[in-house]
Amino acid sequence: MNRRQFLRYSSAWGVSWSLGGLIPSCAQAPPKPDADRAILQGLRIIDPHAHPDQFHHVRPSRIDKTSTLRAIKAAGMAASAFAAVGDLEFFRRSSKISYYSSTKAQLQRIHDLVKAGKVKRVLRSADVPAVVNPGDPPGAILAIEGGDPLDGKSERVDEFYRMGVRIITVVHYRNNELGDVMATWRGLNPGPYNNGLTQAGRKVIARMQEVGMVVDVAHAHSTTLKDIVGMNPKPLLDSHTNPCPTDDLRRCHRQRTWKDMELVAKTGGVICTWPFAYNRPDQQRRTFLDWAREILEMKKRLGMDHVGLGTDGGGGIPRLIEGYRDVRDLARFVAAMQEIGLSPEDIQAYMGGNVLRVLQQCIG
Ligand SMILES: [Zn+2]
Repeated sequence: MNRRQFLRYSSAWGVSWSLGGLIPSCAQAPPKPDADRAILQGLRIIDPHAHPDQFHHVRPSRIDKTSTLRAIKAAGMAASAFAAVGDLEFFRRSSKISYYSSTKAQLQRIHDLVKAGKVKRVLRSADVPAVVNPGDPPGAILAIEGGDPLDGKSERVDEFYRMGVRIITVVHYRNNELGDVMATWRGLNPGPYNNGLTQAGRKVIARMQEVGMVVDVAHAHSTTLKDIVGMNPKPLLDSHTNPCPTDDLRRCHRQRTWKDMELVAKTGGVICTWPFAYNRPDQQRRTFLDWAREILEMKKRLGMDHVGLGTDGGGGIPRLIEGYRDVRDLARFVAAMQEIGLSPEDIQAYMGGNVLRVLQQCIG
């Protein structure tokens, strides 16, 4: 992209770009920190899946700093999910703590951040700040990754709603009381296959829609996803994934097939893509440009209304897009999106506009 095109973007966005950081263009050279903020300025960024500062762990075994409160503020993000891990104790094989107690303890840590004025709780979509000035607390959307702490009881949906939870990812790494997972974790046995959404799962989904929560189908097996879509739900969220080049589920692991993404899109929902890098014979996903080109493909096949960002920051993604250190590097990603010709409107839709629409339709 040349300088004149950049200037056209600038005036279209009504923001003042820091040209010093942009001229070297685009996705290649790392912009200076002040330019990071400048390129992201004017964007209302919402990350619907992250574990900032790995708050879910008391002592993280491996430090993942791709989403920290500090970086979220530096990037000027409007809101980020703070996802408690519902099945955290599943990974600690000898743990005696229940999923329910573990999740409540994790959520308490977010409440402490709210109390300390470090984040602002998002209970309604109107709570997502339109503008976040430096020093303002960003919005925190409370989430639970894995419906395991519900123990199949729909009344627990109400309980977690009262605690401020607005997104629940139905399954994570266990075939739980609600449904089945699409991938296992390092050989851990996920337990018996339910053959799709269970009766308890149906009740839980129905209750989530009634009280005003977003149903997140990330990690859900294709059959479980189909059963959820069959309930004719409000717009669904698939909070962190990316397209699988084949329809062969055995080769897709945590990637979504186009058929399944079409189902999510049909509900009016959003499929969110992450900075996960890999090299496979049929697909290379290594650079900001690879990640951006994928959005272009999703726009063509699903429509721009159905694509969004979901970083899974703090979730320990094994290999990251080259040059992606934390959410501040979304600036470089935005530069790549511009470079391949996505419009300012497309970029805003991806960076938070579409997720905001899902929040409006699901949580009010
Ligand atoms: Zn996660």
